[in-house]
Amino acid sequence: MTDAAEALLLTTAMDWGLHLTTQQLAQFAAYAAALVRWNEHTNLTTITQREAIYVRHFLDSLALAPHLGRKPTSLVDLGSGAGFPGLPLKLVYPELTLLLVDSVGKKTAFLQHVVAHLGLEGVRVVTGRAEELGHDPGERERHSLVTARAVADLRVLVEYAMPLLHLGGRLIAPKGRDAAHEADAAAVALAQLGGSLNAIVPVQLPGLDPRALIVIEKISPTPSRYPRPNGIPVRRPLK
Ligand code: SAH
Repeated sequence: MTDAAEALLLTTAMDWGLHLTTQQLAQFAAYAAALVRWNEHTNLTTITQREAIYVRHFLDSLALAPHLGRKPTSLVDLGSGAGFPGLPLKLVYPELTLLLVDSVGKKTAFLQHVVAHLGLEGVRVVTGRAEELGHDPGERERHSLVTARAVADLRVLVEYAMPLLHLGGRLIAPKGRDAAHEADAAAVALAQLGGSLNAIVPVQLPGLDPRALIVIEKISPTPSRYPRPNGIPVRRPLK
């Protein structure tokens, strides 16, 4: 039986070319239930009503799917929190190799739990800061896709993300209605870090204000001094 929240997920995803199977719907249901259960003792999200979880977390995450390229193979989700947008994308692209990163251990404990609970393979969960990951030789300039929702202003986000991307890789950042303004303000940072604004794509979710995805492409190598040490990108954004 599908309920109203599942029906909305199913039909909206279909509009975006995603055909969810019964098994995938069951995984989303198990994810939502785990999120509500854990949220009783761990502060993971302020969105706890079932339909809101489906729209503001699941669909808002899946809105990135059409922009990941034809056959996405690997993705890094920075500041993933309770797994958004990374985990819903993994549920619709099971072959995706996923790296979920968050600096807060309580969040990554939940992520570990839900990855095991849903029986997902090819997912790594790292407790750490983006500023450090960007200097890890195993991660730097190794990735083709980075996502980050509600983590930082774009100027800051590009300093976190660009070092991780190889040339031609993409950062996709969901933003609110001020996306164009944020993109303008990030122009200098982008130039310094080797990124280029590719597109600002409007996104409409059922019943919500218009949102946008900022798509940035890596066009030249990131100088080795970036990202700067922990906390500096936020305190002194490039400008
Ligand atoms: N992406 C999730 C969570 C947003 S809250 C969502 O959209 O629902 C922002 C998260 O980013 C928090 O969990 C915080 O711990 C994490 N975060 C912020 N700055 C970070 C950094 N520099 N490195 C790693 N994680 C960071």
